[in-house]
Amino acid sequence: MNIAVVGTGYVGLVTGACFSEFGNHVVCVDNDAEKIATLKRGEMPIYEPGLDALVERNVKAGRLMFTTDLTGAVERALVVFIAVGTPQGNDGRADLSFVHEVARAVAESLNAYKVVVTKSTVPAGTGTTIREIIGKNLKEPHAFSVASNPEFLREGSAIEDFLRPNRVVIGCEDETAAAIMKDLYRPLYLIETPVVVTDVVTAEVIKYASNAFLATKISFINEMADLCEKVGADVHDVARGMGLDQRIGRKFLHPGPGYGGSCFPKDTRAILELARDHDVPLKIVSAVIDVNAGRIATSLAKIKAALGGSFTGKTVGLLGLTFKPNTDDLRESPAMAILDGLVGQGAKVQAYDPIAMPIASQTARENVRYCDDEYQAVTGADALVVATEWNQFRALDVERVRGVMKAAVIVDLRNVYEPDAMRAKGFAYSCVGRS
Ligand code: NAD
Repeated sequence: MNIAVVGTGYVGLVTGACFSEFGNHVVCVDNDAEKIATLKRGEMPIYEPGLDALVERNVKAGRLMFTTDLTGAVERALVVFIAVGTPQGNDGRADLSFVHEVARAVAESLNAYKVVVTKSTVPAGTGTTIREIIGKNLKEPHAFSVASNPEFLREGSAIEDFLRPNRVVIGCEDETAAAIMKDLYRPLYLIETPVVVTDVVTAEVIKYASNAFLATKISFINEMADLCEKVGADVHDVARGMGLDQRIGRKFLHPGPGYGGSCFPKDTRAILELARDHDVPLKIVSAVIDVNAGRIATSLAKIKAALGGSFTGKTVGLLGLTFKPNTDDLRESPAMAILDGLVGQGAKVQAYDPIAMPIASQTARENVRYCDDEYQAVTGADALVVATEWNQFRALDVERVRGVMKAAVIVDLRNVYEPDAMRAKGFAYSCVGRS
């Protein structure tokens, strides 16, 4: 099948590469000429484990191409995916300007029947708007279908998530589009992936509801962590004891500095605003957002307490800057908010991240030194703060760390170390939800 994917970011590039791996002919389109030039040189514009090999293999096989020419790509495709960003607008609602722009451009390029599929995360009703935009902007009368196929991949394990998803959600309004979309995902039937076929608006709601629920689990366990600290309980055991109940599940019950990244923060706000527009108060989602917003202050207070009650004249070695490990994505990263909070309150920061240093250091920040490795970051520091749980931080040479630090203080915001072991090694150690 010939496919065009418009928007070659984290989702579009992975989607395009994986569909080409299924044997389809895929053209990935982006209006960022530099990004397309990078891809044409065989370099990856983002960090995602395994992506470079997947792209290289399919480009060599002639199944995957990159272009800025939307018209050419759309003309040859039967299915056109819209995978552009839907960032948070100033009013908290999803900014759909990129999606609408692409819908207009697709309409103007329509030369035969096509299925236009939204992969971007969009509010309920966007499919209807896309249908209207395409209908109004067609240059020639052609039939088309609008579909929704929300993406659930996680950065850091995006390829595995795409190739082995828990489920595929397809929202369609007609049998033709449903048949084409099912055909596209046929390779996943072999591994018995459940396919949920709904109408378009239901598929749109499934995506937001899923992200809101996952964010709820995170805010919930963070509040339990606060309670555990006060009553002397261990939040890890609480999470395990809860999570083994299959009605609850073990995933997303890890306490820390709150959720971040390019999805949960904007998607929880967008569903809240969407519901408000329809006079539906989403009290739980509202509380989830409030709890999450408070995590940065809670984390900074924990670091301040570990430093003896003041940031003045103190140096913090900050390990991890991305919102989670195995990505270079700094969007809405709690680690970056903590970094800004530390310098804003008078501390100096020596920061290190295994992947994101080139991106982070593009922004010069006063009193922030970007370091070459974790040991340089903690040299002369009054405290080591783990902000992102990269694997390499789990196996630090703690003797070496203690030897180079000014004071043996660790604030483990991701609970990667064993409290007793760290204290036995002479560190003043604090973490989240474990006394
Ligand atoms: P991104 O910012 O990485 O990529 C978007 C791309 O679209 C950019 O390369 C941009 O240049 C391009 N673009 C914008 N306007 C364009 C236009 N008119 N023509 C061609 N290209 C255009 O975004 P992303 O993280 O890949 O997210 C895309 C969508 O997928 C969002 O709606 C997001 O919420 C959703 N999503 C993201 C993830 C994730 O983990 N990143 C997971 C699931 C869903």
